Amino acid sequence: MEKIENFELKIAMKIPKAIQNVIESFERLPGIGPKSAERLTFYLLHVPQGELDRFAQSVQSLKKDTTICTVCFNIGESDPCSICQDMQRNHSLLCVVEQPLDVIALEKSKKYTGTYHVLNGKIDPLNNIGPDEIRINELLSRIKNSESGIKEVILATNPTMEGEATAMYISKKLKVQNEKLKVSRIGRGLPIGADIEYADPTTLDRAMEGRSEY
Ligand SMILES: [Zn+2]
Repeated sequence: MEKIENFELKIAMKIPKAIQNVIESFERLPGIGPKSAERLTFYLLHVPQGELDRFAQSVQSLKKDTTICTVCFNIGESDPCSICQDMQRNHSLLCVVEQPLDVIALEKSKKYTGTYHVLNGKIDPLNNIGPDEIRINELLSRIKNSESGIKEVILATNPTMEGEATAMYISKKLKVQNEKLKVSRIGRGLPIGADIEYADPTTLDRAMEGRSEY
């Protein structure tokens, strides 16, 4: 038995370091297990060098060439981001989402022309994430600012338990701050427990149009 174990160990150690490094990097990604990491790495071995260089380059500039907008906390190329700077958009309408991927999903539907506020999370007591851990205070002061001109806030957090709790908390805070402000909730047409990120543009359109006072 001991001999077989040693034999296996020798085989494992024969994997070139360059390959092992890439396997380990893939393994650190969410949803990628050891087998998938190996498959992806060996797939890359067959990709032309030029394509690999472009891939490496794009990963390298991923964080270097992006920045977080200090107005809406979305990720963009500039601060303020292109959406916040765009005067063609309706700046009296503000849509609150959990994460930047939700902005991308809503932008794909092309119907929403207001601005955004990215919370970068949701209230999640089980994981020790309270209101202060996400960008709720920044949202409240953004709306409080008399120059903001915001007339309606659309709460577009996910229709999950945490998303609902987050929407409820924000709505209460907003009403205490300014009772004249219109607060609405996206949701009709979105399946309960679904992620906005994965909803198709038509469903999102309907959910946005069918928003109700909250
Ligand atoms: Zn922005």
